[in-house]
Amino acid sequence: MSQAFIIDGKTIAAKVRADVAADVARIKSEHGFQPGLAVVLVGEDPASKVYVRNKAQQTVECGMQSFEHKLDDTISEEFLLDLVAKLNADPNVHGILVQMPLPKHIDSNKVLESINPAKDVDGFHPMNVGKLSIGERALAPCTPVGSVILARSYQHDLSGLDAVVIGRSNIVGKPMAQLLLRENCTVTIAHSRTKDLPGVVRRADLVIAAIGKPEFVKGDWIKPGAIVIDVGINRIVKPDGKGKLVGDVDFAEAAKNAGAITPVPGGVGPMTIACLLKNTVEAALMQKGLPPMR
Ligand code: NAD
Repeated sequence: MSQAFIIDGKTIAAKVRADVAADVARIKSEHGFQPGLAVVLVGEDPASKVYVRNKAQQTVECGMQSFEHKLDDTISEEFLLDLVAKLNADPNVHGILVQMPLPKHIDSNKVLESINPAKDVDGFHPMNVGKLSIGERALAPCTPVGSVILARSYQHDLSGLDAVVIGRSNIVGKPMAQLLLRENCTVTIAHSRTKDLPGVVRRADLVIAAIGKPEFVKGDWIKPGAIVIDVGINRIVKPDGKGKLVGDVDFAEAAKNAGAITPVPGGVGPMTIACLLKNTVEAALMQKGLPPMR
């Protein structure tokens, strides 16, 4: 039986979207424009199609304009770069997201770096990565931003906590560590070459797992009372042959030790699109030289 407080990502994401909708309404009435998000999808990847459909629907529900560009996977890199250049120049588009992965013949980094950093709502452009690391106002990657919101929903002040981030990817692990430094945590980044990972995790007041391996983090690695944020999304097949989504943490066992823990699904997952919408508002405000709204 779990004892930990379960951090409800669905409810918290709904609150983030409600805040975004309120901010959009204020922007329309006080500043006279409507923020807009352009999403570019290349090819027919089923998971990407679902993400893009959800993004477009939630963008509209928050009162923003949604521009969808669905392209065939045979398009050239030049064609995609030309579309990004047009979106960069379009004053109605405040955020641009190019859905990854891209077909192999297209250089993803070249495309991501062609996005105007002011419209880079994924926060992957080297300019935003650099600004985040030197503590300037920047668009930060959505999943790590959402993870911090979830941790703070349980403990508002994370200052001084020993935080261990497992994973050092550019889209989750590294920006996660930067955001936790901004929260005044003492941050350790663990990865596939870390010695004695269980020992490192046992010291943590806050554990962020972004590994991509089902139930890799065991319950007895979790310090009593720690906050556990599980970013992993892994599909496994149960003995009965049915598919199931699980995180990177053994939820049932970890919940016996943790003070609070996010479930999978229903934890970090719903936060990612909500934070994309939040980033679009922030991008629009920055482009107009306006301060953050909250
Ligand atoms: P990635 O494969 O790019 O990085 C995985 C990281 O885990 C690497 O840095 C690696 O060093 C580390 N790692 C691998 N094996 C390890 C081991 N044995 N011990 C310690 N560290 C190890 O993955 P990613 O893109 O960062 O994603 C991580 C997970 O988060 C995946 O399950 C992915 O599906 C999920 N994810 C979820 C969301 C969301 O919206 N919730 C968004 C992005 C990624």
